[in-house]
Amino acid sequence: MELIAVNGLRKVYGTRGASVIALQDIHFAIEKEQFVAIVGPSGCGKSTLLKILIGLIPASQGEARLSGIAIAGPRRDIGVVFQSPVLFPWRTVLDNVLLPVDVQRLGRDKLMARAMNLLSLVSLHGFEKRYPRELSGGMQQRVAIVRALVHDPTILFMDEPFGALDAMTREQMNMQLQHIWLERKETILFITHSIPEAVFLADRVLVMTPRPGHIVDDVVIDLARPRNLDVMTTSDFGRHVKRIRDHFKTVGDLSA
Ligand code: ADP
Ligand code: MG
Repeated sequence: MELIAVNGLRKVYGTRGASVIALQDIHFAIEKEQFVAIVGPSGCGKSTLLKILIGLIPASQGEARLSGIAIAGPRRDIGVVFQSPVLFPWRTVLDNVLLPVDVQRLGRDKLMARAMNLLSLVSLHGFEKRYPRELSGGMQQRVAIVRALVHDPTILFMDEPFGALDAMTREQMNMQLQHIWLERKETILFITHSIPEAVFLADRVLVMTPRPGHIVDDVVIDLARPRNLDVMTTSDFGRHVKRIRDHFKTVGDLSA
């Protein structure tokens, strides 16, 4: 069954005078256990789409469904990672990770093993008692990913999660995220403005063009897994990147 179904979504910001059409006629579906990336230049409406999907803002028209139920407000059965990790400085790594468990009163005993397992999966074993300030940016973002997964969400949403990291850390994070996905078979919707990042990570890349944001292509990335960074130098990888990049050439925007 489709986990996410988006039909005829439209979003207009502002009512009087200067209104902005941020999204226009968005349609797509995501199957369980798929890793889907949405790629598009800055300002094309990616975060707007994500905010609608996590129930933070309403759509102006159309609807989005998660597990068959219309998304009408914030829900607890999802995980979200933003560009900035937003950890609580006074909580240890483990206490940050267990925040959703505490807030939703799921019981620490039941989920402690899962939390520890996820921390190991992102190479943070031994850092449970550290505080966020003692960690690098990449490590903090890994804590945020574990926190988003600890309550076993139906789907993980990520909005440019590695955008603030340096290029080498970002590549390592991409490898780790693939590792998590292969191990845990999460369903992931990953938003990025980096075409190579989208192609490296995803099974499918939805291509969004600038305002009003509209999906113009749905590219199946059939590269074998596990993928390592060398895949980026292959002709198949280059072919996917070119196909996606060509959409932006036609509108004269190379910022992606
Ligand atoms: P992206 O995440 O792809 O960079 P956004 O979804 O953040 O794009 O923004 C899409 C468009 O909507 C941009 O033109 C932005 O200026 C506009 N926008 C975003 N949020 C608001 C808001 N709260 N009010 C008015 N315009 C907004
Ligand atoms: Mg954004």
